[in-house]
Amino acid sequence: MWKTDFIKRKEIVDSVKRVVIKIGTNVLTAESYRLDTSLMEHLCQQVCWLMSRNRELVIVTSGAIGAGMQILGWKKKPLKMEKLQTAASVGQSRLMRFYERMFREEGYNVGQVLLTKDIFESRSRRKNALATLETLLSYRIIPIINENDVVATDEIRFGDNDSLSVMVFELLNADMLILLTDVDGLFDADPKNNGRVNLLSEVVGISERHMSIARGGTPSKLGSGGMVSKLAAMKRVLELNRIGMIANGKKPWIIRDIFLGRRIGTIFISGSRRWTGKKKY
Ligand code: GLU
Repeated sequence: MWKTDFIKRKEIVDSVKRVVIKIGTNVLTAESYRLDTSLMEHLCQQVCWLMSRNRELVIVTSGAIGAGMQILGWKKKPLKMEKLQTAASVGQSRLMRFYERMFREEGYNVGQVLLTKDIFESRSRRKNALATLETLLSYRIIPIINENDVVATDEIRFGDNDSLSVMVFELLNADMLILLTDVDGLFDADPKNNGRVNLLSEVVGISERHMSIARGGTPSKLGSGGMVSKLAAMKRVLELNRIGMIANGKKPWIIRDIFLGRRIGTIFISGSRRWTGKKKY
């Protein structure tokens, strides 16, 4: 049973070339919203491991607001937009500084890409963003994407990076979207409220039952998305007939284990897709 699952997962991940990995605020920050740089370093090393296996990697990162709050000594997430934007402005540069240093140590350059929703709504701006991202990838530069929180107003805001990551995923015609969060995946009930819950290892098509489990979940303090926006993103991934994954970014070696085909996190696949086992890369 385990063996079949292992082989199938391995087959699935072997078919993947272009990967978008979204790293949530709860993964990147430790106590008092401090950026957990040792964890970031571990994640970056795994991204490099994947790059060396000829994959194309795009990172969608959260954590700017959290990092800014820590620098400014703010204990609670502000409600006012301009204060959130102030925190994002301060935190984004610290966030990039870490990514830049960590990837440079491994021999890779990074490119900062800040996006707002309106870019995806305008044909020419979409085209332009795509051309830049494709060029970054062609030079093996790792795009590090976040919402442009500093200028985003309500009308042009994604609000959460789960929605941003799936739009980037679609724009780039990527093969797999991985959402790294601080829970192990999708459970059959909310693990924060229920003692005995089971991790759903594989979801083939998202049903109303899955959505209602997500709606019952506990919202996190700092991240904006929660399980509802993650499942909405996964739904789109499956509509596009691609592969999705929700996994625990705090777990050691999570990215490597996903690509070794280990039974970890929740994998989302569409029922209509057949796995040929052919390597794409
Ligand atoms: N763009 C926000 C930040 O960098 C994160 C939004 C989210 O939590 O999804 O802090």
